[in-house]
Amino acid sequence: MLLWSYLTVVLTDSGTVPPNWKPAWDEERGEVDPLNESEFDGLQPALSSRRIRYCRKCNQFKPPRCHHCSVCGRCVLKMDHHCVWVVNCVGALNYKYFLLFLFYTFLETSLVTLALFSHFLAFFSDEEIPGTAATLATTFLSFVLNLAFALSVFGFLIMHVSLVSANTTTIEVFGTDKRYWFIPAYSDEDLRRMAALQGLEFPSNPDFDSEEF
Ligand SMILES: [Zn+2]
Ligand SMILES: [Zn+2]
Repeated sequence: MLLWSYLTVVLTDSGTVPPNWKPAWDEERGEVDPLNESEFDGLQPALSSRRIRYCRKCNQFKPPRCHHCSVCGRCVLKMDHHCVWVVNCVGALNYKYFLLFLFYTFLETSLVTLALFSHFLAFFSDEEIPGTAATLATTFLSFVLNLAFALSVFGFLIMHVSLVSANTTTIEVFGTDKRYWFIPAYSDEDLRRMAALQGLEFPSNPDFDSEEF
């Protein structure tokens, strides 16, 4: 399951904006003019839900929650982050596989840690340990590495489960500039462009966003 999830998240396209995609705007009200530059900055809170976003690098409109990935050099639908471990962007179409990859990696590393725990303890006892020096070194290293990965992946898994339950993504919480991810600040670009950071608009549950409500 771990290998299957890993290969799927690596090989699945994270989500490309369909060619010539255009946002549906309210023609009757005529409030959103796609050629009007000021609308691109999303400075009018009242229009926030109809805010037009445009990627100057790809030269195309951006659907909601879509972000431009500088590593992939293209816009990615509901982009979460670019993951170096899976050599791919994590976005709308492979997020589930990424989450399963985290889950199965956690299970696998925990299993190995538990299986090697008694062997690891033996290093600190007086009893004679059978096996060659190479076997002992491998056992010791395997235990330490698997424990380290189990703990870090567990933290990452908890973070992503809470992001999913809040219907948000890493980018929508931490900002688009990775240099700012681990410091308590946002880039000027994010503050200007990300509606959620202005506190007036948040990702919404489609069930409650539909016209029936
Ligand atoms: Zn783009
Ligand atoms: Zn990417």
